[in-house]
Amino acid sequence: MVGIVLVSHSATLASGLEELINQMVQGQVPLASAGGIDDPENPIGTDAFKVQAAIESVYSDDGVVVLMDLGSALLSAETALEFLSPEQQEKVYLCPAPLVEGALAAAVQASVGGSAEQVMAEAQGALAAKIEQIGGALPEPPAAVSPQQAGEIVELTLTVENPLGLHARPAARFVSAANRYPSTDIRVLKGDRLANAKSINQVATLGVRQGDTITVRASGPDAEGALAALKTLADDNFGDRELEPAPAAVGRIVQAAADNQLAGIPASPGVAVGPAAQFRARLPQVETLTGCDPAAEWKRLQAAISAASDELQAVIARMTRQAGANEAAIFEAHDLLLKDPDLLDSVRQRLDTQQINAEAAWLQVIEETADRFRALEDAYQRARAADVLDVGRRVLDRLAGGLPAEFVLSEPSIVVAVDLNPSDTARLDPALVLGICTELGGATSHSAILARALGIPAVVGVEGAAAALPEGALIGLDGSQGLIWPRPDEAEIRELSGRREAWLDEQQRQKEVGREPAVTADGLRVEIGANIGGPNDVPVALEYGAEGVGLLRTEFLFLQRETPPTEDEQYEVYRTIAELMGERLVIVRTLDIGGDKPVPFVDLDPEDNPFLGLRGIRLCLAYPDLFRTQIRAILRASAAGNFKLMFPMVGLVEEFRAARAVVDRVQQELLEAGVPFDEAMEIGIMVEVPSAVAVADQLAGEVDFFSIGTNDLTQYVMAADRGNARVADLADALQPAVLRMIHQTVEQAHDHGIWVGMCGELAGNPLATPLLVGLGLDELSMSAPQIPAVKEVIRGLADSQAEAIARRALELDSAGAVAAYLGEVKAG
Ligand code: PEP
Ligand code: MG
Repeated sequence: MVGIVLVSHSATLASGLEELINQMVQGQVPLASAGGIDDPENPIGTDAFKVQAAIESVYSDDGVVVLMDLGSALLSAETALEFLSPEQQEKVYLCPAPLVEGALAAAVQASVGGSAEQVMAEAQGALAAKIEQIGGALPEPPAAVSPQQAGEIVELTLTVENPLGLHARPAARFVSAANRYPSTDIRVLKGDRLANAKSINQVATLGVRQGDTITVRASGPDAEGALAALKTLADDNFGDRELEPAPAAVGRIVQAAADNQLAGIPASPGVAVGPAAQFRARLPQVETLTGCDPAAEWKRLQAAISAASDELQAVIARMTRQAGANEAAIFEAHDLLLKDPDLLDSVRQRLDTQQINAEAAWLQVIEETADRFRALEDAYQRARAADVLDVGRRVLDRLAGGLPAEFVLSEPSIVVAVDLNPSDTARLDPALVLGICTELGGATSHSAILARALGIPAVVGVEGAAAALPEGALIGLDGSQGLIWPRPDEAEIRELSGRREAWLDEQQRQKEVGREPAVTADGLRVEIGANIGGPNDVPVALEYGAEGVGLLRTEFLFLQRETPPTEDEQYEVYRTIAELMGERLVIVRTLDIGGDKPVPFVDLDPEDNPFLGLRGIRLCLAYPDLFRTQIRAILRASAAGNFKLMFPMVGLVEEFRAARAVVDRVQQELLEAGVPFDEAMEIGIMVEVPSAVAVADQLAGEVDFFSIGTNDLTQYVMAADRGNARVADLADALQPAVLRMIHQTVEQAHDHGIWVGMCGELAGNPLATPLLVGLGLDELSMSAPQIPAVKEVIRGLADSQAEAIARRALELDSAGAVAAYLGEVKAG
C-alpha cells in the first residue's frame, strides 16, 4: 500500500492531521508525520532528517506520497530525498496539493489500494469539491504581492568561475552570507542536487566545480535581499581575490622551487621520502556507550563545540597575522562546520534515538560527512574530507578534556600539518616520523627546535602544503634546502633515497667525530652542551658528543598533561637525568610556559600577544605554588648530580631577586627537614629579553652565569615573531642588532667575572661558530645532532683568528652581509 507522509512547520498540526486521517481510514494506511523542529524554544520549522525518517518508516515498493504545508517544508522534503537511495528516490512523490485536503484525499485513495499515481492525482484534485461549493466566494488575490510575502520562492542562477570551484573557502563565505538571513530559507541547486545554503557541509559536498552553474532559491521575509547579497559575493568570486593559484610562500626561502617542488624554510637537516600522513586528519577510536542521557550528552557536546570554536578563533587570528586572511578562511570554514545546522541535527537525532554518548554520535556523523566529501569527483574537493576530520578531532579532543587524541602512524611517514605545536611534535614517535612539513612556523619555533633535537628532517612555512600533499601520497623532503617534492617521479625518488642513505651514513660518522673535545688550534676550550627536553634525550645527546646539558627545557614535562606533575614525579625525572649524566653539568631551566607553550592546567585568560604576556619567570612568579613545587623537586634532585639552576625570561633585577628568594626559602625548608641538596648550586639566568641586555651589568652583579637565548632575544630585539614564516628574514640571529646585543652581554659578564654561554639556536649553527668563539662565549649548547659539526669547526680554528672574525662581523650592516662573510670564512 502507498504510504503517506505529512510535513508541516507545526508538530501539533501534523499530529492533528494524522489523527484526522486515521479516523477516516481506520488506521489502515501507512502514515507518518514530520512536524516542527527539535528546539523547545523555537519549535516551528521543518527538518529534512525528520522528513527522511518519516519517509523511511512508511516506505514500501508501492511508493510514498509526501504532502507539505509551505515554504521550507518543500525544501526540507526535497533535501530529504537527497538522503534516500536512488531506488527509493524513484518511488517517493512530492505532492503539490494543499496539505489538509490533499492528505485526506490521498489517504482515502491509498486505503482502497490505489497506485502512487492515483493517490497523487486524487490529492491534487482535492480542492475541486471545495471550489465548486464555495468558489464564487473566493477573494481575488491582491494585485501586487511580492514573491516573498506570498511565501514563494525567488531564484538566482550563477556560474562559478573560481579555479577550485566552490571549495572550502568560497563555500564558507557563501554559507556565512546565507546565515545572515536567519528567517529566510535558502537552498542551492546543482543539477538535481539540492543543499541547504546555511550548511557548509551540504554546500561543500555539492561538488561545485569551475564553470558549473548553480541555482540559489530563497523564500521568506528577506528572500530578495539574501539573493542580492549572494549575487554580490558571487560577482566578487566568492571573496577569492586571485582567480589564479596564489604565488609560492613568503619567508626566507633558501632556494626557489622548481615547477615540481614546493619551497619553505629549512628547519631541520636531512632528506626523507615516504607517504604523507596528514596530522589531525585521523580520528581516534571512540568507545560507544549506551543508555546515556541524551540531554546531558547534548550539553557536553555543545560545551566541547564551543571550546573548539574558541580554539579555532585563536587559530584564525594567528593564521591571519602570519599567513593572511585568505589562508585563515579555511579555518572559518572549519568553524562553520561546527555550527552546521544539519550536522548538529543529525548528531542530536542519534543522541535521542540511540541514547549513545556524545563522542560516539559525533564520530559517526563526522565519518559520514567525511565519506560524502570522499565521494566527490574533484580531487581537490575530495581532499576536503581532511578538514572535516580535523574539525571532528578538535571536538573529540575537547570531549576528552582538552588533551589531544593519539596521532598514530602505522608506517614510517612524512607528517604534514598546517601547524604543529611543541606538544604535538613532542608526541610524535621519532621511529615512525621520516620528516615533518608544516605550513606555519619559523626555524626557531619550538616545534622546529624539537625536530632538530630528534634528528627529524623538517621544512616549515610551506604555503598550501596541507592541501597539496594529500594523505598517503608519496612525497620527498629536503630539510637542509627547505624543499618538498609533492609528486616525485622515479628518477627523483631514486635520487632522494640515495641522498637519504648518504645523510644517514654521515650522521653515523658525525657521532664518532663528536666524541673529540672542542679545543681551538691554540688551545682554547669551549664547553659544548646539548639542549634536551627530558631523560629520553640524554642517550642521543651523549651519542653525539655532548659534554653536558646546557639547557634542560623542563616545560616538556608539563605539556601533555591535564594536571601539573607532582613534586615527586618531577623529582624522579630530574634525578634520572642527573644519574644518566653523572659528573657532567646539567643546567636546569625552570618552567618556561606561556608564549607558544600553553598548558591546560594554568587557566590563563587568552592573551592577544602571548609572547609578550605572562610567560617564563613572569608566570612562575604569578603561580607561586607551581614554581615552589618545581624548585623543591630540582633542589632535591641536585643532590644526585651536577646541577645549575637557570630562570627564563628574566628582564629585571627585581624578577631575579623574587625568583631567588623562592629558592632561598625552599633551601631553608629542606635544610630544616634534613633533606639533602646541593647547597653550592649556581643560579643564573637566560639573557633573552632585551631589557636584560640593557641592565646586564646590574644582573651580572647578582647572578652566577648568563646563557644567551638567541631565539627569544632575536624575536624581541627585531620585533619579529619567531614562529611567523612571513618575518623569518627579520627573526634572524645574524642581524647586526642581535650580534651587538650578544657582544654587549658577553662583555658585561666577563667584566663582572661570570661565565656566559649560549643555548639559543644560533649556538648550533656551524657557520656562526667562529663568530661566537671570537665574541668570547664560554659555552655553546645546541640540539645534539649539531654538536659534531660545531666541534669540528672549533678544532679547525685559532682563537686569535676567531676574534678578528667577530670584529669584522660586528662592523657589517645586514644579516645577509654577515652570512655572506661567514660563508667566505668557511670556504677558507
Ligand atoms: C631561546 O629563547 O633562545 C631559548 C633557548 O629558549 P626557548 O627556545 O626555549 O624559548
Ligand atoms: Mg627562550
